[in-house]
Amino acid sequence: MPDNSGQHGRRMARKKAVVDAAIARADQDKGLLLILTGNGKGKSSSAFGMVARTLGYGLKVGVAQFLKSRRDTGEEKFLGDQPGVQWHVLGDGFTWDTQNRDADIASAQRGWAVAQGLLTDASLHLVVLDELTYLLNYGYLDAQQVYVDLAARPPMQHVVITGRAAPQCLLDLADTVSEIQDIKHAFRAGVRAQSGIDL
Ligand code: ATP
Ligand code: MG
Repeated sequence: MPDNSGQHGRRMARKKAVVDAAIARADQDKGLLLILTGNGKGKSSSAFGMVARTLGYGLKVGVAQFLKSRRDTGEEKFLGDQPGVQWHVLGDGFTWDTQNRDADIASAQRGWAVAQGLLTDASLHLVVLDELTYLLNYGYLDAQQVYVDLAARPPMQHVVITGRAAPQCLLDLADTVSEIQDIKHAFRAGVRAQSGIDL
């Protein structure tokens, strides 16, 4: 039998009072900017988890995937077909290998124009900008422009940005930032990408 009258019970009661007070203080609603960054696995898949949660409430979602090395991922197959989802794959025009910087910049800007459409559509409860950070880090998009467009979005719209090395100006604007640390990844032990886990 648990002894709730003892030291453990008193400690738990104090903890509950602190947690209850923190929950009572958090009484605001707002459209959040979330950034999932870092070298570990789990950034995009976390963003798609929030897409699933949002769709569970019958709310609308826009997804823009800025870099995509593989087509036919599980997330696109399943979530892209759901009612209420707009799914844009914007990475096809990039020519990383040919180092054609002008073409890359033009393609990135065409992609950002699509994102601007999502960020001005108040019917979208959630917008995911998957792998956006790379375009900022390569200098293909103007971080200031991205900042301004994010800041001007509809007040109740949530946005999730994924990608390694998120620039400081986005971290400053964000409400929630998680850095996923790489401790181990099966790929380095020679395991190829697994359906449902990696793609
Ligand atoms: P996921 O889409 O699985 O959540 P992610 O968005 O965090 O991954 P990305 O850098 O976008 O990471 O990489 C996507 C692909 O690369 C996935 O197949 C993922 O398993 C793999 N990957 C992610 N991080 C690492 C890593 N540190 N080492 C090797 N492969 C990785
Ligand atoms: Mg990713």
